[in-house]
Amino acid sequence: MVKKIEPVKIAVIGGSGISEISGIENVKEIEIDTPFGKPSAPITIGTVDNVRVAFLPRHGKGHIILPSEINVRANIYALKSLGVEQIVALTAVGSLQENIKPKDFVIPEQIFDRTKNRINSFFGNGIVAHIGFADPFCNDLRDIIHKAVTELAIQHHFSNTTYVCIEGPQFSTRAESKVNRANGFSVVGMTAIPEAKLAREAEICYANVSLVTDYDVWKVGDEVGVDKVLEVMEANANTCKKLIKNLIPKMAQRELKCECQHCLQYAVQSAPETVTKAPAYKDLALFLDKYFKK
Ligand SMILES: [Zn+2]
Repeated sequence: MVKKIEPVKIAVIGGSGISEISGIENVKEIEIDTPFGKPSAPITIGTVDNVRVAFLPRHGKGHIILPSEINVRANIYALKSLGVEQIVALTAVGSLQENIKPKDFVIPEQIFDRTKNRINSFFGNGIVAHIGFADPFCNDLRDIIHKAVTELAIQHHFSNTTYVCIEGPQFSTRAESKVNRANGFSVVGMTAIPEAKLAREAEICYANVSLVTDYDVWKVGDEVGVDKVLEVMEANANTCKKLIKNLIPKMAQRELKCECQHCLQYAVQSAPETVTKAPAYKDLALFLDKYFKK
């Protein structure tokens, strides 16, 4: 459990190529244990322009955790226990559309879930909850990110964008890539699910910034070598640093008026008198006490 520390309201989750964020000052690392196990790594806490921020590399230090192996419940719970209210999730992705080029940033509006083997809810074990997920990302937070990338003149894609999440760890076959492309999806990655679902269940505003590394495998004749991909990933990481520096102060000023912040209020379907007695309750008290322990 977390020792008493001053709350941190903003978090960044880093993906492939973003295992740390520079520009954070006054850094310390804290180990957190949760009812769901340990998060991917100790959480780095520091400040960006005097705003406290938490950073978590989802693949662990040294990139040692497969997408399917990430303990996403522990990651989200750990951030919630610190007081996190908003998460920006960075992911490396492949592009499924010609006009979405390597080094572009995509702020997806929708997700299509093609994962097969993931724990995607905190609920169960006596407590049933169905959260709304029609808009899987916080649109208020997306708007702020949009403002930041526009100010920084980062090439980006915002409206009508869909992230298709595959199980991995293998990349798509050409047949799968063509189907994803024909469906109109924008980018393909392996980690937005269940992160977005669990962040919503934890009532945390969550938005994704997808950093395009290549054209997946649909574009015959455009298969890129490893050296090219590494160069693009490095460029993306540098752009990301600028984005974080611009974005974090904006997030700190944002008024949290969106539904993410109270989406559990009517989502729990189990009879109220059963909820606090359910085996799951003690693990979920962090989320549910505000509604059930009056
Ligand atoms: Zn929100």
